[in-house]
Parts: sequence; C-alpha cells; structure tokens
Amino acid sequence: MTDRREFLKKSSLLGLLGLSTNLIGNEKINEIETTLTNLGETNAFNMPKLNYRFDELEPFFDAKTMEIHYTKHHQGYVDKLNAIKSTNIDFLSNDEVKCTHIDNFTMAAVRNNLGGHYNHTLFWSVLKPNPKAEVNLPKGKLLDALNAEFKTINEFKNLFTEAALKLFGSGWCWLVLQNGKLKIVTSSNQDNPLMKINDKTQFEPLMKPLLALDVWEHAYYLKYQNKRKDYITAFWNIVNWDEVEKRFLG
Ligand code: MN
Repeated sequence: MTDRREFLKKSSLLGLLGLSTNLIGNEKINEIETTLTNLGETNAFNMPKLNYRFDELEPFFDAKTMEIHYTKHHQGYVDKLNAIKSTNIDFLSNDEVKCTHIDNFTMAAVRNNLGGHYNHTLFWSVLKPNPKAEVNLPKGKLLDALNAEFKTINEFKNLFTEAALKLFGSGWCWLVLQNGKLKIVTSSNQDNPLMKINDKTQFEPLMKPLLALDVWEHAYYLKYQNKRKDYITAFWNIVNWDEVEKRFLG
C-alpha cells in the first residue's frame, strides 16, 4: 500500500502544478492509467461524502428524493465516467480544472458525466440542514457583494429564481464570479459555466461557480411534481451560505 500512497502523493503534487493533458500527453496519461490499474485503483472518480443524512434536509428536500438523487443519478454519472476508457481526461487535475477543458468537441459521454459529477458535488456542498426553518441569509463579504451587485438580497433571490424558472428543459442555475463581478447564469443538461461551449471561447474570463441549483425534474418531481417554483422557494431555506462565501473568498 506504500507504493499506492506514494503514487497518489506524486499524482496530487503533479496536479497542484496544474499540468494539463496537453502538457502531459496521452502517452503519460496511459502510463498513469496503467499504473493506477496495477495498483488496484480503477476508479478515477469517487462519490463525495455528504455532510448530512438524506433525511436531514427535510422538510425542504425530502429524504427519498435525496436518496435517489445521490445513489442513482449522481452515482450513475460517476460510474459512467469511470467506465469511459481511453479518454483525454487529465485526472491529475481537480474536477474544476477538468471542466475547463471541456468544449464542443469533447465526447458527449465525458461532457455529460463529468458535468453531472462536478455539478452535483458542488450542489451537495452548498446545501445544509435547517430543521427549525430559521431565516437563512448570506452574511459578511458575500452579503455586501450581493447587495452591491443586485441592490438587495431579495432582488438577487428573485432574479435567480426567475432565471431558474425560465430555463427550458433540464439544466442548472448558477451564481458565478467572473472578473470580480457576481452574475446569474444558466446551463443546459449537465453543462456548467466552467466549460468552453457554444460561443464561449478560451479568451473569455473564467466563471467561478459559487452556488448551484439543479433544475432537472429528478431533483424535485417526487415532492413538488411540476411546481418548480415551490422547489426553488424551499431551496433558499437550505443554502449553505457559509460554503458559498468560502468559495467567493477562496
Ligand atoms: Mn440532478
């Protein structure tokens, strides 16, 4: 096991240096894949640990939806991602960097499943239990920045809700930071604001996702049926604003 630990340590060091697939080359990736396989490590992607139980987001998000969402939908993206062989995924970098390598020419399976994995991992991390249904608002520097950009926190919530409601079909609604400016954007399917897709070019400043809302029907249909607005209203009660602020300041 020492070998494996040593290898993982080296891998993360390489990852920290920000080496990209282009720099490393496919040959190196193949070598790393082989090494990982030899060491008995076949999964490059793993499910994140949740900071709460499935039933702890009740009554806003119900336990059954959370369980299916995490163990079936998210797990499905991870399984499919791990099943993809011979790709150009640079798994030495973190998932955020991996997403920035996705463009219109990326294999659909990589784009969809990597997006699905990254988006859900972020989504789980910006949620927290609120069993007593206490008032839940951002604080500190994040609150100041939201007020500066959107005038009031209510106005921000209204605009975000409107964007999430307007999104046709399946997708995500995001609060992002771009060039020091807070923005609300949406993406289709499992795409996200880190990806270079459609008219986004490599020259556009990177958008950093701070807050994510899953607006696929699978995220709310069991409890809220077609009432997406009720689901979004419930969401505001369990946003982990401390985590959002950490991302904002980080
Ligand atoms: Mn989902």
